[in-house]
Amino acid sequence: MLAIENHNITQLKGVGDKVAQRLQKLNIYTIEDLIFHLPKRYQDRTRITPIAHLTVGQHVSIEATIISASVIQGRRPMLCVQVQDDSGQATLRFFHFSMQQHQSFQRGRRLRAFGEVRYGHQGLELIHPEYHLDTDTQPLPLEAYLTPIYATTDGLKQLSLRKLIEQALTWLTINPLPELLPKGAQPHALSLQEALMLLHQPPADMSISLLEARRHPAQQRLIIEELLAHSLSLRKLKQKNTQQQAYPMPDQAQAQQLIDTFLSQLPFSMTQAQQRVCTEIQQDLTQSYPMMRLVQGDVGSGKTLVGAVAALCAISQGYQIAFLAPTELLAEQHLFNFSKWFTPLEIEVAWLSGKLKGKARQHTLDAIAQGQAKLIVGTHAIFQEAVIYHNLALIIIDEQHRFGVQQRLSLKKKGDSLAYQPHQLIMTATPIPRTLAMTAYANLDTSVIDELPPGRTPITTVAIPETRRDAILQRIQNAVSQDKRQVYWVCTLIETSDVLECQAAEDTAMMLSEQLQGLTVGLVHGRMNSQDKQRTMDQFKQGKIDLLVATTVIEVGVDVPNASLMIIENPERLGLAQLHQLRGRVGRGSIESHCVLLYKSPLSQQAQQRLNILRESNDGFIIAQRDLELRGPGEVFGLKQTGALEMRVASLTHDHLYIDQVKQLADYVCQHAPEQSAALIKRWLGMKHIYHQS
Ligand code: ADP
Ligand code: MG
Repeated sequence: MLAIENHNITQLKGVGDKVAQRLQKLNIYTIEDLIFHLPKRYQDRTRITPIAHLTVGQHVSIEATIISASVIQGRRPMLCVQVQDDSGQATLRFFHFSMQQHQSFQRGRRLRAFGEVRYGHQGLELIHPEYHLDTDTQPLPLEAYLTPIYATTDGLKQLSLRKLIEQALTWLTINPLPELLPKGAQPHALSLQEALMLLHQPPADMSISLLEARRHPAQQRLIIEELLAHSLSLRKLKQKNTQQQAYPMPDQAQAQQLIDTFLSQLPFSMTQAQQRVCTEIQQDLTQSYPMMRLVQGDVGSGKTLVGAVAALCAISQGYQIAFLAPTELLAEQHLFNFSKWFTPLEIEVAWLSGKLKGKARQHTLDAIAQGQAKLIVGTHAIFQEAVIYHNLALIIIDEQHRFGVQQRLSLKKKGDSLAYQPHQLIMTATPIPRTLAMTAYANLDTSVIDELPPGRTPITTVAIPETRRDAILQRIQNAVSQDKRQVYWVCTLIETSDVLECQAAEDTAMMLSEQLQGLTVGLVHGRMNSQDKQRTMDQFKQGKIDLLVATTVIEVGVDVPNASLMIIENPERLGLAQLHQLRGRVGRGSIESHCVLLYKSPLSQQAQQRLNILRESNDGFIIAQRDLELRGPGEVFGLKQTGALEMRVASLTHDHLYIDQVKQLADYVCQHAPEQSAALIKRWLGMKHIYHQS
């Protein structure tokens, strides 16, 4: 194996403790790290552009003669310098300037200036450019390479960072980095070293637009190597998983019998997609190492039923299942469903919440410890240390994207404390893009429920300004009185302050019940105690409440098919995936359903764009991809602090097109150069692979 050594950054000239600390903020600890700190964009200072060829948005150098210079008075004085070359005229505009500077711009003097082209009052302008006048001892030099612009941090100037990187590149020519890809497997036949040099010091004729679109061969070369490292690490993780011990469930005939009995009670049959995913799960459960399967299915695709089948599979062999939901409300809903489904099969379902106290709690804990309780439903309270399982074989996690990092860790701790690792089935309505699946969800196999149960009518979504609130109230009135339907009204607040949000919901409920005489208005929010919450939900389910005012606590899972209209206040404050989830509370039966996004004008252009996406698509996969592009994976998947999302060159949002190529390359490396695998992982992931475990 090729050794990959790391050289401390302090070996470079000019890097003492202080600079080293600043570099650490950029995750740069070694000379190698510095070399992999690639430019985020480039400027072209290699040539003079004739004024007639300037285009808005470009950074350019011009060489011109001064015509005039004048200070324009305003809220803030500005210095405008008219210049011309053989091809045309332009303005240089300065916001900060001295008297002396003003006077130095004499008619007839020549200068070189570099800056960004904008469109101004008098035509094209360079905004606050760098410049050198003809008499300066050094004219503004033209450079041999495109100028790299790096991400930097407080106290570290662009120029200082650039100088350090130049030093590192000189070091690199003497200490080349080992090439880890076999010859013939290097994308675009570029070595790592060549690719790095090209990107730090691109020759003048390299295309900036190609570079900025991340499509230059040198970038692709590095992106692919990085994704390859992730792919190899993923294989390693999966392999490690196969060495763990889980309860195997070999008797599938017995399982099938119980499952068939269960399915025959239902008023419908499974969709083909549900059946396919159930088969995949049952297959996994026969193994003696833990299943790690992620089931992705859009809102309403019937994930709960798939979970139920998996649970029955384990119960049929005498094991216990834990079914974990992110909110109490959803956990209660699941308890209700599972009790209804499993009680006729004489399967004991237990309920464990943080709020369960005293005797009732002890009774439940005993039933879990002695093994009578087969299915244990609850929030993460079911993984507290006090909860001792008899033979926990399977954990089902619903709406996994809603769990925080802490909760994931406590789950892992519970798993590690057991004699046998539980199988894990993870369900989510927010589809995880493949690039992300390679990193944050590296150890999971995935199944997709890509079909909705028959007879669903798509939800119609409209965006309406708050000024038309009266029309909405009329609409609610009609839906309830004429069509005998039920309605949700969702209150959202910025900065999810729980208290304020609940207050807003209370106020809204009060107001609406005054405005909508004759309608029964109910209220649920996160600060109500669980009995009150449950009572309200039951009443809504039974049709005793017409209009349910709620906070986003109803985002996941709540299932009332007769509800056909949802109003979401201030939708611009929520992420797209979250809005899609919320909206999924309607459209659950065969009746036509509507979602009204009630916004405060004026909407920013981005907010408009976002609401449009929602109006145009009912497909959670498309919406999640767009959400990802707009907000980034950290926000969408709540993974901000895990570090699992950081890649050096590749992008989780943009580089999915390389995945198939990367997979082939991974096969090739495993077969022809397996010894390189560890070195690649170390180079690109460093210590990060530990995150994959959680
Ligand atoms: P989600 O995937 O959003 O968790 P649920 O499991 O809550 O969806 O299912 C949504 C609704 O669809 C429930 O009322 C459920 O009973 C119903 N359902 C599930 N599978 C089917 C099916 N194959 N045919 C008809 N209805 C189904
Ligand atoms: Mg669900």
